[in-house]
Amino acid sequence: LSHLIKRLFRERDVLKAIICFKCTELIGALHHQQIKLEQLEANDLKIVGYKERDALLCHKCNEILRPKELYFENQNDYDRFIQNALCKIAEKISEDIGYCDNCDGYQFQRHIHNVNHGEEQELIREDKYGTYIAELLEDSCIPEHVIDDILKYLVCKKCSASESYKEARNFEQWDRVYSDFEWDNFWGGRIVKFADNYDISISEYELRSFQEYLLKRPMIALKHNVGEKIFDALQKCFDAQDFCYLKPEVVLHRGRSRYRDNPKYNLEKLWCPPTGLSSQGRYNAIGVSVLYCCDKKDAIPYELHTTQGQVIDVITIKVNKSLKVFDMDSAFESFEGFISAPNLESKAVKQEYLLTNFIGACCEAIGFNGIKYNGVGDSNSEYMNYALFNMKMNEQIILQDRIESVNYSVAYKNSRASLYENVDTKIRWLTT
Ligand SMILES: [Zn+2]
Ligand SMILES: [Zn+2]
Repeated sequence: LSHLIKRLFRERDVLKAIICFKCTELIGALHHQQIKLEQLEANDLKIVGYKERDALLCHKCNEILRPKELYFENQNDYDRFIQNALCKIAEKISEDIGYCDNCDGYQFQRHIHNVNHGEEQELIREDKYGTYIAELLEDSCIPEHVIDDILKYLVCKKCSASESYKEARNFEQWDRVYSDFEWDNFWGGRIVKFADNYDISISEYELRSFQEYLLKRPMIALKHNVGEKIFDALQKCFDAQDFCYLKPEVVLHRGRSRYRDNPKYNLEKLWCPPTGLSSQGRYNAIGVSVLYCCDKKDAIPYELHTTQGQVIDVITIKVNKSLKVFDMDSAFESFEGFISAPNLESKAVKQEYLLTNFIGACCEAIGFNGIKYNGVGDSNSEYMNYALFNMKMNEQIILQDRIESVNYSVAYKNSRASLYENVDTKIRWLTT
């Protein structure tokens, strides 16, 4: 029928060729970035009146426009609008681009490479940090036909702010970029803030130099001025009772994975390794015995990086006496730059754990009974991990006798919102 109408119109020669607003395919993107049409400079949009003399036909989608629909009179207006809108959208998207691989952002990949190097399986997922430009554009509802254009307008904040990165080229779709939030998490900017709460100031530069120092002289970290400052801040935190309690009766779980045909672990093997025999973990240097556990049994496979075909032997622990626990995440606001599997079997010294090892050692020396930190392995639910120091069986904690052997299948999910839904509602939002 619409074909017939178009032919009729054409025959009567009252058809005016225009381009409709929908054909920009930018409605979703503008809506997503909360950019109203009046915020755009080159806005030559016309609106179809009720008593239009000529019928309006979009020569891109071949649709006849209804009253109140938006359109451009010519290609020129359309092009100008697109460029202007892309510029504005890119400006918004760029707010999330703090770093890229052209500037300091390359350190993310270097770090992950260093941690994973020589491991049987990835300790940190390759794609844990950063986002591909292509993903960023897809999440921002950018349509295919403007991708090359919008790439010209995207900028990295670090690159544009510093002289040494001035010759930055345009982004490509498979470039990786990082947010300021990721950067802060990653390099311990949170440690700087934490110390500041106790009137102790550490600059980011000092912290970096401390990390280098830790690599060479981990045992005398307290000799370094930043090591001392971190210790003092933790001490002040303890004195101010800025910790939380693990109260009696709280139930925690701990597990170890093994291949199905290997013998089941006994209680002794499931307890923390004796002093001198433990490998380096997130909060303990080699030799220091720490009991790692978590508050949700179903989260154990994520923490152990259990693979298909493995079984986990799980023990349950009940807290007996109140334990003073340093809350890593509230102190450092989700500081997770050094996250990894707690029950590492690898013997090599992990450079990336040196800072958390140091924090763990300080906490233990100061009198905390342990550290609490968010579990991030299972994206579908929240759980807490604990690293407990100097635990004596059946004293501060009570061990339940039963050992449970469990099969788990670990699934990773990734959901994405559907694009271009409710075009009409979005237009209404953009125009009013
Ligand atoms: Zn159209
Ligand atoms: Zn950059």
